[in-house]
Amino acid sequence: MKKFILISSLFFLPLLAFSQEKQAEVKFDVTTIDYGEVEFESDGKRIFKFKNIGTAPLVFTRISSSCGCTIPKKPEKPIEPGGVGEIEVEYEKREKINFLNFHYSLKKVSLKNYNSFSVDAKAKNLIHISSEREIINFIEKNKKNELLILGGGTNILFTSDIEYPILKIEIKGIEIINEDDNEVLVSVGAGENWDQLVWWCIENNFGGIENLVSIPGNVGSAPIQNIGAYGKEIKDVIENCKGVFVNNGSIKIFSKDECKFSYRSSIFKEELKNKFIITNITLRLTKKNHNINIEYASLNNYLIENGISKPSIKNIAESVHLIRKSKLPNYREFGNAGSFFKNPIISKKQLKQIKFLLPEIVSFKNKNSDYKISAAWLIENCGFKNIKEKNVTVYKDQALVIINTGNAKGR
Ligand SMILES: Cc1cc2nc3c(=O)[nH]c(=O)nc-3n(C[C@H](O)[C@H](O)[C@H](O)COP(=O)(O)OP(=O)(O)OC[C@H]3O[C@@H](n4cnc5c(N)ncnc54)[C@H](O)[C@@H]3O)c2cc1C
Repeated sequence: MKKFILISSLFFLPLLAFSQEKQAEVKFDVTTIDYGEVEFESDGKRIFKFKNIGTAPLVFTRISSSCGCTIPKKPEKPIEPGGVGEIEVEYEKREKINFLNFHYSLKKVSLKNYNSFSVDAKAKNLIHISSEREIINFIEKNKKNELLILGGGTNILFTSDIEYPILKIEIKGIEIINEDDNEVLVSVGAGENWDQLVWWCIENNFGGIENLVSIPGNVGSAPIQNIGAYGKEIKDVIENCKGVFVNNGSIKIFSKDECKFSYRSSIFKEELKNKFIITNITLRLTKKNHNINIEYASLNNYLIENGISKPSIKNIAESVHLIRKSKLPNYREFGNAGSFFKNPIISKKQLKQIKFLLPEIVSFKNKNSDYKISAAWLIENCGFKNIKEKNVTVYKDQALVIINTGNAKGR
């Protein structure tokens, strides 16, 4: 037996049959196969199973391996909507391979299922990426080209068709890289689902992100706008963010300070927007003496109402999950991107002046000596809650959320 170390990826071009609204769409069971230890000279045969979840037949025109170290076989017959298929892969016996990552590219695909607003923009080339190496390979071949980085699509609005390549980041993996009695460092691939990571931490009794449960989207996107909810932000637990520069393919690990986190922002949303692709993040989490945060009024009230006086991290996650469910629309039902607005931050003096004119305005004390005024209150009191235009409106139970009630366009 021999352990081999090399990463490979596959590349295929299915022809997506189009007829007005109809189109094929592929969903794979898994996109990465860990070969582990394999016998020298064995064929390494593996099967990738997929389903056509679209509405038109799926036809494969070409399928190849990006490194030449694997030999994939494409399905010869069209796969009907709802039908399943398999791609068989053997690795080239002269080569050495450990992980087989599945990297595929779709041409002229609708982005409707790739953004939580459900906007039906079209992508000229949607490339599914499952390793850092694939990003570097892509950049080496496409140095000057514009590209768009896509995670779960829950914080993005497509205002037109996208003519340049979209890299859909699907890098997986959760790994404990260091721990002592009190803390643990967890390294997570950018393509992992954020909410699933939170529940994995709860199961393992790792504290720090329980208040951030039920935020949709991917792990790699979480630092971009420094996701926050119910009194916590990801910056509270980030150790570092690793990724690749789009201009030259070089790798950098940004320390927490270098990430320049602020309220719903970071260096990745400002000067490095679309210039740096996060591939992996490391979180520093607690194993005991968890820093339980119940400052947020609605969370605190919920715990009191339910007789939970000393909440565990599991209690917090479950409570936040239920509160969120009662307040926010399910984006699979009504397309939305969650809260669309930031609470304006003003000084104490400014608040005093505003209160003179609008005594009922809702405000909260912010961390420094300034105040946040409620964006939801402002929207409601400007009468925007009842406005509906071209299938876009404000959600009835939460003024901060804009929803797509039909086939709304991005502009
Ligand atoms: C119902 C609902 C509730 C929400 N609640 C909250 C909330 O409570 N708090 C909160 O903070 N947010 C919330 N959001 C917003 C959203 O969930 C987060 O911003 C989330 O982090 C977006 O992740 P995503 O993978 O979907 O990002 P995407 O929408 O795919 O991308 C967002 C931005 O990040 C960039 N990007 C994505 N991946 C990478 C990467 N690997 N490297 C570099 N750039 C990248 C994209 O180019 C884009 O500019 C909510 C959204 C919805 C729909």
